[in-house]
Amino acid sequence: MEILKGKTSFPGIAAGKILFYARDEYEIRWHSVKDARKELDSFEKAKRDVAELLEKLLAEAEGKPASVSKNYRAQLQVLMDESYSAAIRSMIENQSVSAGYAIHTTRDELIYTFQKLEAPVIRERIRHIREISFKLIRALGTSSSRIVLGEEPVILMADELNPVEILEMEKDNILAVVTFHGSEISHSSIMTRTMDIPSLFNINVRPEFDGRMAVVDGYTGTLYLDPSDEQLKEYELRRQEDQREREELMKLKDKPDVTLDGKEVNVYANIGSVDDLSNVDYYGADGVGLMRSEFQYLGKDRSPRENELFLEYRRLAEAMGGRTAIVRTMDLGADKKADYMRIPAETNPIMGNRGIRLALDHKDVFVEQLRAIYRAGYYGNLSVMFPMISSVEEMDEIDAMIQEVKENLAERGLPFRDISRGVMIETPAAVMIAEELAARADFLSIGTNDLTQYTLAMDRQNPSLKDKYNDHHPAVLKMIKMVIDAGHRAGCRVFICGEIAAETSLTDTFLRMGVDALSVVPACVLPVRRILRQTDLSSVTKM
Ligand code: PEP
Ligand code: MG
Repeated sequence: MEILKGKTSFPGIAAGKILFYARDEYEIRWHSVKDARKELDSFEKAKRDVAELLEKLLAEAEGKPASVSKNYRAQLQVLMDESYSAAIRSMIENQSVSAGYAIHTTRDELIYTFQKLEAPVIRERIRHIREISFKLIRALGTSSSRIVLGEEPVILMADELNPVEILEMEKDNILAVVTFHGSEISHSSIMTRTMDIPSLFNINVRPEFDGRMAVVDGYTGTLYLDPSDEQLKEYELRRQEDQREREELMKLKDKPDVTLDGKEVNVYANIGSVDDLSNVDYYGADGVGLMRSEFQYLGKDRSPRENELFLEYRRLAEAMGGRTAIVRTMDLGADKKADYMRIPAETNPIMGNRGIRLALDHKDVFVEQLRAIYRAGYYGNLSVMFPMISSVEEMDEIDAMIQEVKENLAERGLPFRDISRGVMIETPAAVMIAEELAARADFLSIGTNDLTQYTLAMDRQNPSLKDKYNDHHPAVLKMIKMVIDAGHRAGCRVFICGEIAAETSLTDTFLRMGVDALSVVPACVLPVRRILRQTDLSSVTKM
């Protein structure tokens, strides 16, 4: 047996077969199929379905501006273009790949060929190719665009994983994630934590590990390669013990979040998408304190439209019933890039055009999201909050947009509700003007992941800084206290939604600072609730 030591990003025990994911290889490997005939049939069926859909849309477009039907007609033309279909078919037949992969690749090749040409008619053509490929993929079913990991549950190993890759994997078959690159605060780590998957990083993974058995011990940050039967049995006992501890915690699931002396402080859950809602309910969170909505924008050819977004947010609002559900508007840029936003290459993306700055530069995209959120607000207790705010002018600009959004929805006769608004405090500038920002909001939510990196001037994802990046730094803790006081002076509730909110060693400190809610990954709700319910704020203060 070989023992490799690394770092834990999320604890837990898992044993199983390793699947080594190599990014360059996966496309061919993961998309190769045994039965090309079946893929050809699926493609033909998707083509018929999309043609039918376009005919229907064309019929509905009668009486609407000519540009609407022109658009659908142009898409139909691409779909019926024999050279487009022939390219996809020949790829399926000659390379034995899935229909989804053939559509994606053909689209990319066509776009690559055309993109150097500036003529408006070519630009239009590229747009229609993107749109028709998207519709075809959707008609094939969602699983076609995912990274298929196979039938068997596996320990997923990779040099590194980016958020889009994780998003595209079927999480049900992932027992644990082990990577070389990574950091506790990277978005990839946060995502596996949200999915409740034990994860390690800083392990010297190698492709030859593929197919071998391993045990992941997420408590000690250790990977055991080729364990003996004896060792596997030993780990099974530890896994069972781990399970018993989890069951003990589950007794707190329906208990209220009240301190011993009777103060209610909510414990909310952070989620990446509505798919994570099952975990929110499983662990009995008081609500959703942060939905990272930008994941709805990743891994796509174009930004999601108002209606698509609305349906997701309505699902969130309805699923939560009367409970709070806070949607953070798209926090794109830096490590969360959507190609269609065309962010020029940046020397320092962490300091670049990201979060609210990017959203305000793309108002056409941003306004669709705001409309969707305000419409969905009608169906539950939704709130909206804005990432990476650093000035009151940004809030003024957002206010003006919200006013227009409400007017637009009223004109269209669509129901909406005036929902509460929050500002994320993630930059030192926002800390210093927290009171002014609070005057323009209903709540503040402290994003300590970014606040730490900007305060310490340390990239939260840089592996060589992993031992130096410290979100317990006294400067960060002082800032948290400053923001809570400033928010309360302005009559706002103040939450913490960065990863530090889950640190049970700091729960007492945060409660004594006066925080109103802590928002953590779903699996950390109950450990925080346990400490909260044992805390007596009337006893001698620690601060
Ligand atoms: C944060 O920065 O603390 C935060 C919650 O946002 P994200 O981790 O998505 O940047
Ligand atoms: Mg952030």
